[in-house]
Amino acid sequence: MKCLLFLARLKNNELITLKDVEAGESVIIQKINGRSSFRRRISEMGFVRGKQVDVLKNAPFKDPIEYQIMGYNISLRRSEAALIEVVSLEDNSDNEIIYNGTLSFNKKEMKELRPLNELKVVFVGNPNSGKTSIFNAISGRQEHVGNYSGVTVDAKKAKTDYNNYAIELTDLPGTYSLSPNSPDELFVRDHLLKAHPDVVINVIDASNLERNLYLTTQLIDMDIPVVLALNMYDEVDKKGDSFDIEQFVKITGMPAVKTVGSKRVGIHQLFDKVIEVAENNDPNQRHIHINYGVELEQSINKVQQEIWKASNYIRDISSRYFSLRLLDNDEHTHKNISYLENAEAVVEVANKEINRLENLCKEKTQTLITNARYGFITGALKETFKAKKTKRQHSFSEKIDNILTGKYTGFPLFLLILWIMFQSTFTFGAYPADWIDIGVNWIGSVFGNLLSDGPVKDLIVDGIIGGVGGVLVFLPNIVILFFFISLMEDTGYMARVAFIMDKLMHLIGLHGKSFIPLIMGFGCNVPAIMATRTLENRSDRLLTILIIPFMTCSARLPVYILIAGAIFPETAGTVIFSMYLAGIAISILTALLLKKTIFKAKEAPFVMELPPYRIPTLRSAIRHMWSKAKEYLKKMGGVILWASIIVWFLSYFPRTNENIELYQSELARIELQLNETNSDSLNTTQDLLLSESELNFKIYEEQQYNSYIGKLGRGIEPLIRPIGFDWKIGVSLVSGIIAKEVVISTLGVLYAGDESADDSSLRDAIQRQKHAQGELKGTPIYTKPTALALLVFVLIYVPCIAVIAAIRRESGKWKWALFNVVYATSLAWVLAYIVSKVAGLFF
Ligand code: GDP
Ligand code: MG
Repeated sequence: MKCLLFLARLKNNELITLKDVEAGESVIIQKINGRSSFRRRISEMGFVRGKQVDVLKNAPFKDPIEYQIMGYNISLRRSEAALIEVVSLEDNSDNEIIYNGTLSFNKKEMKELRPLNELKVVFVGNPNSGKTSIFNAISGRQEHVGNYSGVTVDAKKAKTDYNNYAIELTDLPGTYSLSPNSPDELFVRDHLLKAHPDVVINVIDASNLERNLYLTTQLIDMDIPVVLALNMYDEVDKKGDSFDIEQFVKITGMPAVKTVGSKRVGIHQLFDKVIEVAENNDPNQRHIHINYGVELEQSINKVQQEIWKASNYIRDISSRYFSLRLLDNDEHTHKNISYLENAEAVVEVANKEINRLENLCKEKTQTLITNARYGFITGALKETFKAKKTKRQHSFSEKIDNILTGKYTGFPLFLLILWIMFQSTFTFGAYPADWIDIGVNWIGSVFGNLLSDGPVKDLIVDGIIGGVGGVLVFLPNIVILFFFISLMEDTGYMARVAFIMDKLMHLIGLHGKSFIPLIMGFGCNVPAIMATRTLENRSDRLLTILIIPFMTCSARLPVYILIAGAIFPETAGTVIFSMYLAGIAISILTALLLKKTIFKAKEAPFVMELPPYRIPTLRSAIRHMWSKAKEYLKKMGGVILWASIIVWFLSYFPRTNENIELYQSELARIELQLNETNSDSLNTTQDLLLSESELNFKIYEEQQYNSYIGKLGRGIEPLIRPIGFDWKIGVSLVSGIIAKEVVISTLGVLYAGDESADDSSLRDAIQRQKHAQGELKGTPIYTKPTALALLVFVLIYVPCIAVIAAIRRESGKWKWALFNVVYATSLAWVLAYIVSKVAGLFF
């Protein structure tokens, strides 16, 4: 009966482990899971892939199980047997059997052995060590590479084939350690412990071994199979340092390979090594124990003893590791071991040992452990590493640094760089933008001539081409912006900016570290909000999340360019630059306000990292630009297209009302007259033509005013009239909540149907818009004060839906998302009002 069950499970392709096999059955070993020392020990006992195992005794729920392998009798714990994947020896199907291994038994008896061709490989390492570069190099992916911490905040996955192995790669966020001080570190650690990767690639900045190896010591404690990627080896060579890798591998038991991630050097050697380690073929790989000193080791042993008492202890995580973590006062580990039947006793023993150690050594156990780790590193390096002796002189990098982060020069230079960035974004973007504009207009007129009059033509020409085309025009600006952002990241300047801002940020009770997510917000607020995960202190993190939406994201840039370009053609670059500065100022002031009221917590100490300056690679910049361009185009084919169609529909229907009918009969009358009058009465003809076009415009206006969207707009109008906005602007702002570009596509659709405006760009349409009703009737809508107010409003009011969702997700509460919506919108209104009034005094 049980045997049948076994076969049934096999048919369903379920994973069978040695634990499930009945007494009397025989199986072939497929794969050995678990930590590396277990794998090594078990393979030394003869449990290797492809070998046959006969189960002698397997009493349900009773340890141990007895096996026979290569003539030996061996007993294993049930928990250990669960780590050994097997396939059945008997195969009742008629499948051809293919196997080229070294097995000596009758082929007929054997089921096809699944080749060990799927590997789970993860990247861990300090931020900025080059994980993503190597990840991209092997997978051909284009993930974002940046020269500052916190770029990778989520695990990125990719699949790749390498030498007949299907490798699943995971790029984890960069961390300096695996003691869960921040959500990042906890995330990485949990991934390593729970996802059971086959091999962990520990990417190390080899030009900075001492600091990078700290994380490595923790991997050693975890006892998982690691390959070291000694990355940035070009820097080591350049400095002229010497590192005896062979010796290092020997003493640490960790295979290591030199790489230069950004230039794809050593990637193949690295993955050859990964496969060797996965197949347990690397002779150097072994598990070592870091020596924590007599007292600590004694305590570790005491806790281990207690853990071993538990009969339900699953041996996939090392007991030494658990003990160390407990002695390190790590709360999260309490959870991890809570499944042990004697979990409480284990914690008790650990606490007793902590007390003993702290009384004895007069030091916190954390310090003892950290010191021992650095001792290990220093020792390992002393034997293997020789820094080139140089006379101390200021390197080029240091000289630049002194200027860029100088007390008096740093901040002005930062502003100057920002100004240059936005000025060029606007100026250089204008030419290709004009070409696209011409192209869009041309396509519009082609469709206009091709299609016969009616709703379909109007939908395509006014709705889709008018809406999406209006946004498409800004593609060059976006690409240029990201070119600059990419340069700032790659050179290492971004990290300096955080450094420059550190003092300012301290004034408002935040770290310079918080400034990096803020700057990332220039690209898109959503990943910026996710990047706050690098902040250790929860209240700092929340505060940073709440102020990020005031940073001008790249979706707001097109709105700036459109409005500033139309109304301030001479000084558009400076206007745009000021908007960015205003955003920074508002976020800082908001932080100050919140810090004084809601978030009164103290700041946590931390060390500011300054990566060395690097020459940016063109490849990285182009890759960055290309991926942003793709994103932008995707957005256009998706949300912006749909929003345009919906806005068009709402503005197109209903088609008629009494007034329109009246105008139309008038129009018919004029047309009749036009036909009758002959050419000698030129004046009359001209008059008639004039009133014809006037009537057409009136019909258009009346129709829009009465459309669904017009009604909606009229509902909003009283709210925004004080700032000088009309209903069309109001509707655009509302639809802009979907995504900020939709502000433009909505204006594009609303202004497209205007017959008098054929073949002209949205910019011209904006300059031409006049108030249709009220006392301002006939005067331009977009005066300078109104334009400025609109810019301010777009900068501050509700971020897009994606950002609201991100705030909710990262803060864990709807409360904060709602807070942001209410706060941002009311602040936007108030400031826009003030701006329009104050600017009214000047213009
Ligand atoms: P991650 O934070 O660990 O993912 O690191 P990234 O892959 O984003 O790389 C950080 C920076 O280091 C980028 O500017 C890379 O171009 C650069 N970089 C990566 N590998 C190397 C290398 O081997 N040598 C040098 N000189 N730079 C590298
Ligand atoms: Mg990365």
